[in-house]
Amino acid sequence: MRYGMMIELDRCVGCQACVAACKERWDSGPQAARDWVLELEHGKRGSDLGLTFYPGLCNHCADHPCTAECPTEATYVDENGVVVVDPDVCIGCGNCIALCPYGARHADATKGIVEKCNFCAPYVARGEQPACVATCLAGCRHFGDLDDAKGELVRLIRERQAAPLSTAELDIGPKVYYAPAAEREVVLASGAIRPTRSTALTRLWQGYTRPLARWGVPALALLTGIGGLGANLLARRVRLRQEAEEGPAEPGEELPRHRLGMRFLHWFNLLSWVLLLLTGTALMIAPSFALFGPGFARRVSGLFGGQPGLIRFHVVGGLLWAAVIVPLFLYFKRGGLEAVREVWLTADDLRWIVRKPLALLGLSRQPLPPQDKYNAGQKIFAITALIGTSLIIASGLVMAFHLGSPQVMRVAIMTHKLAILFALAGLSVHITMAAIMAEERPALRSMVTGYVSRQHAEHHSRKWVDELKHKEQSS
Ligand code: SF4
Ligand code: SF4
Repeated sequence: MRYGMMIELDRCVGCQACVAACKERWDSGPQAARDWVLELEHGKRGSDLGLTFYPGLCNHCADHPCTAECPTEATYVDENGVVVVDPDVCIGCGNCIALCPYGARHADATKGIVEKCNFCAPYVARGEQPACVATCLAGCRHFGDLDDAKGELVRLIRERQAAPLSTAELDIGPKVYYAPAAEREVVLASGAIRPTRSTALTRLWQGYTRPLARWGVPALALLTGIGGLGANLLARRVRLRQEAEEGPAEPGEELPRHRLGMRFLHWFNLLSWVLLLLTGTALMIAPSFALFGPGFARRVSGLFGGQPGLIRFHVVGGLLWAAVIVPLFLYFKRGGLEAVREVWLTADDLRWIVRKPLALLGLSRQPLPPQDKYNAGQKIFAITALIGTSLIIASGLVMAFHLGSPQVMRVAIMTHKLAILFALAGLSVHITMAAIMAEERPALRSMVTGYVSRQHAEHHSRKWVDELKHKEQSS
């Protein structure tokens, strides 16, 4: 079965009844319609002057270039050769709109997705005609099976010498036929076929974001890991020398560093990130988009019963994550002011950033400048996380609730991806350092117990310890 349509241009009276019927059946929003009728004036004066009505719709092309760059595989060809869009999986990125030479797709701003004609597939499946065919007052539309050589549609196409809107430059196997030839030429001359180009979103993802996420982030983590192992060896040498001179260090007093709420926030955040990253990357299932290959994306998608379930989990999980971390963060950090104070980079921090790598490599014995509760490296990670998280939540809300025009949706999708990449780069360094560098272990332990040894704090967060002493004395 290969569904197709034939339209007799010389019988169309331009009444727009087909457009109205289609809009009503598919509940299209304002400025959105799955089909159209254009009025094309041609000729110059007198008897030469003519009017052709061009009823257009998706041609359900055999080559369907519009499906090639759909990241979620929301648009595909069904078993009857009909090109469809799954509204539960479409994220409204508009990649497919840019690749249709017939302008047969549109973004429905009220629904936040892309729509197009589907030959009324669910209605046809139960024996009805497409709405436009059933309503056409002039009877100029004919629908049927192109594979049925003895059928009415094929007979009419043959009789009227109908042909699709193709040219020598562009023939992608359209399945909508037009007759007669003279009026078909008028339609073609009116610019019914337009040039196509991948969207900036596709070019950005395929050219930069995906390679950076795939290779740049692991390379950064690997370099951090190698640096961390080297730093461990040097730190061990220093510790052994100190122990030989002063004897083994005694376990000293413990200082409270993280409240229970902040520790919960930290680990909840980490767990949410893992789940949201896993589901978010698997959403891009198309081979030309999948971050770790379509096989991985398909396996993750299968765990959620397919793409609609995966999208629902990602959206609900993301909203839950934001609903937990934002109020808790604002509560524990006094409306965010305390966080700004804690991550503010001082002159000492800038000097630390220059000297610390040299010290780690054993190239400098200069003492490091005193640090606050968080050292400059941790502050930089926190700044990255704060900016990245704010952008991810804001763009995620725009996408989840379709807040804005298709252009706003596209900017939101692009922002979401770039912010995740940005935060992922910081996260990869943070996790690798915490897991590998011996020097970071007390800080990691403090995220579990809430305490850090005074000895470690005095060495790494001198200013913070002084601040605590000052508070103790003045209370
Ligand atoms: Fe895709 Fe456009 Fe062809 Fe329809 S007309 S199948 S939307 S390329
Ligand atoms: Fe696929 Fe994006 Fe088109 Fe939706 S808008 S069908 S997600 S390419």
